[in-house]
Amino acid sequence: MCHPNLEVKEKVKEAAQALKKPSFDVQRVRQDFPMLQQKLNGKPFIYLDSAASGQKPQVLIDRLSDFYANEYGKPNEQHTDSKNATEMLEETRQKVADLIKAKDSKEIVFVRGCTEAINVVASGFARGLLQEGDEIITTLMEHHANIVPWQMAAQDAGAVVKVVPITATGELDLAALENMISERTKIISLVHSSQILGTINPIKKITAMAHRKGVPVLVDGAQTAPHMPLDMQDLDCDFYTFSAHKMSGPTGVGVLYGKADWLEKLPPHNGGGEMAETVEFEKTTYSSPPKKFEAGTTSFADIIALGAVIDYHNALGMQAIADYEQELLEYGLEKLNQIKGLHILGSAPEKEPVVSFTIDGVDVKDLEKYLNNEWGIAVKAGNLASQPLMKHLNVDKALRASYCYYNTKEEIDTMNQAIEAYLQTKA
Ligand code: PMP
Repeated sequence: MCHPNLEVKEKVKEAAQALKKPSFDVQRVRQDFPMLQQKLNGKPFIYLDSAASGQKPQVLIDRLSDFYANEYGKPNEQHTDSKNATEMLEETRQKVADLIKAKDSKEIVFVRGCTEAINVVASGFARGLLQEGDEIITTLMEHHANIVPWQMAAQDAGAVVKVVPITATGELDLAALENMISERTKIISLVHSSQILGTINPIKKITAMAHRKGVPVLVDGAQTAPHMPLDMQDLDCDFYTFSAHKMSGPTGVGVLYGKADWLEKLPPHNGGGEMAETVEFEKTTYSSPPKKFEAGTTSFADIIALGAVIDYHNALGMQAIADYEQELLEYGLEKLNQIKGLHILGSAPEKEPVVSFTIDGVDVKDLEKYLNNEWGIAVKAGNLASQPLMKHLNVDKALRASYCYYNTKEEIDTMNQAIEAYLQTKA
């Protein structure tokens, strides 16, 4: 018989191991997603395009329909249903703040999406915080959503946009970034993780580097917020942006996180009701943040329903989601690397669960169509909304498979089988 102390030690060890390797019950999770029970072109639906948009759990659909059927009221009006809706909306704001460990829910602004969130900041900078000759730093691995708004702001203010290069592995050249920061730099705006390369950028290091020179940092978290626990206070960025629809949440809702002092300083983007406190033809005063940036009627039913998705993710555990998705990514990389002539874009050691690739002699748009039509597999092919990066990589189109916690290794196997079958038809 084991000594009781040893027995206890053994039990603690087992528990620690179980904690380290959480068993993620993907089959159970899949049952929560009605779309995953559908067929695509007569085949079981294999959805490997979550980087474009996430599938929706039943809890989201139920919450939305319940709100519309039984609880509908427009926030900020005076009747009971409206007061309840105001409360529910503010509850979601608090849930988002808790999710990303913001200091205060007042630092959470609801907008339409990540794109709008970046535009709010860029246009605010153009209107009050940029002077002629000032510099905005962005990087070569940005989505168009984090390039064009800054170009527009630069044009309006007579500022210039500078671009941080990337290394051969698809990581940011941090030394180049450090050299680029000058006394004219007014903001650094960069992606947390690339929707093409998957690279996760070392944000904490970059914010420390920027803050040493007094420069604020905006982080585009569109591809990161759905996949890992976040801590704004640890990352210490000044703005962080993401879209609810990419995190299995509702469409038409985005989040702009901003440190309280920055939201005070930043001029508003849209004018109208809610954002204005006193209005006279001579002068208008603005509401305090976050209302200052929420002009007019927001997509409040969707915002309220986002709260249910956050609860769902918290029940699964963001860390458990991240661990399982990393397992899928490793498996996907290993499998795809077995295909002859296939080249993966980006080989950074820290990646989000996306894999973009080309195959020698293959038109990936044709492969995308074949996977959809013949195998019921949804992926995305094209310039993947980063034309400057694709030009730099000397690639005009790539195909991207993106994995989410509701995907399985079997689906990854089927995609490999489908690609091999396609290559056979071309041989
Ligand atoms: N940034 C990145 C890195 C993205 O991948 C995307 C969407 N593909 C966006 C921004 C824009 O997101 P949305 O279209 O939801 O505004």
